[in-house]
Amino acid sequence: TQRFVWPMAQFGQVINMYQRAYASAERVFGLMDTPGRLAEVEDAPPLEVTEGAVEYDDVSFGYDDEAVLSDVSFDADGGETVALVGPTGAGKSTVLKLLLRMYDVNEGAVRIDGQDVRDVQIQSIRRAVGYVSQETFLFYGTVRENIAYGSFDATDEEIVAAAEAAEADGFVRNLPDGYDTMVGERGVKLSGGQRQRIAIARAILKDPEILILDEATSDVDTETELLIQRSLDDLTADRTTFAIAHRLSTVKDADRILVLEDGRIVERGTHDDLLAADGLYANLWAVQAGEIDELPEEFVRRAVER
Ligand code: ADP
Repeated sequence: TQRFVWPMAQFGQVINMYQRAYASAERVFGLMDTPGRLAEVEDAPPLEVTEGAVEYDDVSFGYDDEAVLSDVSFDADGGETVALVGPTGAGKSTVLKLLLRMYDVNEGAVRIDGQDVRDVQIQSIRRAVGYVSQETFLFYGTVRENIAYGSFDATDEEIVAAAEAAEADGFVRNLPDGYDTMVGERGVKLSGGQRQRIAIARAILKDPEILILDEATSDVDTETELLIQRSLDDLTADRTTFAIAHRLSTVKDADRILVLEDGRIVERGTHDDLLAADGLYANLWAVQAGEIDELPEEFVRRAVER
């Protein structure tokens, strides 16, 4: 079963079960820039981002009667990178959907710079938060329009500069019509790595205060991977970033790592903290590093019993 395979999920490796997570992230986050369907309080003010600090205060949530997140509390200081790791279905995307106020918490609160996301204009949240993934939505239009999506007053020079910074300029120029090539449905099909770089270019142009990064251990070659890594490093530096993290470098260097299991944060800390704690994270790490052959029985049993 799904539960049973989870202990083998090694951060930073392509695991089939993640594919499902991506598909759902696409459905979920593809909606990101559509108007919210949740009610706003009358005359809600726009979100005012100062530091980009985020606070989850004892958050519980379920899509229906079943609890998906329970007692989730953590802080992200402005500019920090927080990595969320854990098996498919643990609740990582759900945590971030609440930040975007795609759903309302059942208990607790999510605050951005002290403002409860329920008290501000939903559109202002979506403007402040950027989203990057391989599954980023490309609409039927030119590459240029797709990069400028969300930054409608961008000039051509700015669009090309963003594409260059995202390491996308090279492949875009090799498309049949360069920046005027039609992509998206019915358009030229782009690979996951190419879509991701369009998404990075879009985010560079949008320059959001907070970034959600749905990482992929992608099918791109090592050289492209390194290029993407470099542009992501630039994008996330000094910007509050939440990464659903598969890349080892992101996990390792994150200011905070949250290990989610079954809707709860079961471990948290820096990479070094978590290694020292010798829990689930440390053991996954050891498996992956080849130090041990398989996850110790206690962790396997824990996952299977759920
Ligand atoms: P992760 O990102 O860690 O893979 P998710 O946050 O996507 O986990 O999912 C957490 C749980 O919530 C899973 O059991 C999933 O099936 C469920 N879930 C996710 N999205 C929805 C939805 N839109 N409606 C109902 N259940 C959902």
